[in-house]
Amino acid sequence: MKEIPTSQQYTITPIGTVHSCFGEKFAVPRQPGLVPSARGYIELTPPFNHPDMVVGLEDCSHIWVQFLFHQCLDRGWQMKVRPPRLGGNKKMGVLATRATHRPNGLGMSVVRLTNIETTHQSVRLHIQGLDLVEGTPVVDIKPYVPYADSITDAHYPFAQEKPDIMDVYFQDAAEQHLTLAKPNLEDRQWLRQLIIEVLQQDPKPAFHQPSPEREYGAKLGGHNVKWRYLNQRIEVTAIE
Ligand code: SAM
Repeated sequence: MKEIPTSQQYTITPIGTVHSCFGEKFAVPRQPGLVPSARGYIELTPPFNHPDMVVGLEDCSHIWVQFLFHQCLDRGWQMKVRPPRLGGNKKMGVLATRATHRPNGLGMSVVRLTNIETTHQSVRLHIQGLDLVEGTPVVDIKPYVPYADSITDAHYPFAQEKPDIMDVYFQDAAEQHLTLAKPNLEDRQWLRQLIIEVLQQDPKPAFHQPSPEREYGAKLGGHNVKWRYLNQRIEVTAIE
């Protein structure tokens, strides 16, 4: 673990907390926008929980969320990391990647802003397409400004396209679990779509060679979702 000298330290205070459909770090998408059905909200915390803080933001379609990779901070940072997009076996400088184990543990994601709910003491920014786990501390929010932030000739040679996706299939038992888990049709359709979009990204670490017996699981949309790698596709086995 590498540490930063105390003489160079500044204090940063989170302004809010993410409440996310991703209950644990495993299976959170590797970038924002890869799972459009992902949803959650940012709850501003005192003294930042004042409606005045967000006046005008309701007219913006997307926001930059700057946050702390709080579940990794205790493991410090690394100069070189193995990005999953490179198969997990090639090392790159941390600053050439979007990896979590970075100096200061700061992340940034562009997400869709669907709604802002305010009362006199509560401000909630509802967001979609997030790649953030439940409880992520938010340190700043800014509007996404297309003319400045969308760079049409930008390139990142290490991952030029979105990752390939896998086929996802629900076993009969999982379909039944889904009906029990979400009796309301709209909720059920959303959870099904969320599971498909998440698993299509193949959340397992790149170096895993899963046997058909091995069951994976993650907390998605408030449910424990289980799956296996069978027949070159992902099969959802249970939703609890
Ligand atoms: N878009 C952000 C960025 O570029 O800074 C995050 C990219 S990072 C590769 C995304 C991964 O961070 C997710 O797949 C998840 O494993 C992890 N993650 C999300 N929220 C986290 C948190 N609060 N603490 C630690 N890791 C987190």
